[in-house]
Amino acid sequence: MRIPGGCHQAEEYKNISSNVHFMDERLNSAENQAGPCGILCGSCPLGGSIVAESASRTRKHITECDIPNWAPFVPGGEAIDWAAVDLGLAWMETYARCAGCENGGGPPDCTIRICAREKGYDLCSSCEELEGCTKFEWLRDQGQMIKDRLNENRGLSKEEYIKKMTAKMP
Ligand code: SF4
Repeated sequence: MRIPGGCHQAEEYKNISSNVHFMDERLNSAENQAGPCGILCGSCPLGGSIVAESASRTRKHITECDIPNWAPFVPGGEAIDWAAVDLGLAWMETYARCAGCENGGGPPDCTIRICAREKGYDLCSSCEELEGCTKFEWLRDQGQMIKDRLNENRGLSKEEYIKKMTAKMP
């Protein structure tokens, strides 16, 4: 792709791509994981790498269709900074995906993960305090829904839970 930008941009690309291999190893296992909250990583666009793969495909289409070269002849196209678009998409390819809670991904301050880890639970369905637990509140309406799901599946190991929930996925 003929994108203006110069050395600064080239350096940014190098930094991003040098992190790809480090991230890939951790990310590949995310799809078979669930957080202690019971959310399957594979059901989330970031855990399932859908967002990152879309970014990768979009970069490819931009190059193959040579879009930056004809965009200026289409209304509004002359205002687009294609170097910035490419840099953003390259960043998304690497970082817009989550390694899963087990591999250090997920929201850094998640109260559920922090608490479950301290108590030594893989899944909050093992915790006697689940019903009255307030740590799910930051997830708003979804918080109650995933608590109910954990409650319904008490007694299952994490592996059994993941298998059961994966089978229900569309
Ligand atoms: S109190 Fe129990 S249910 Fe609540 S977040 Fe901690 S481990 Fe999970």
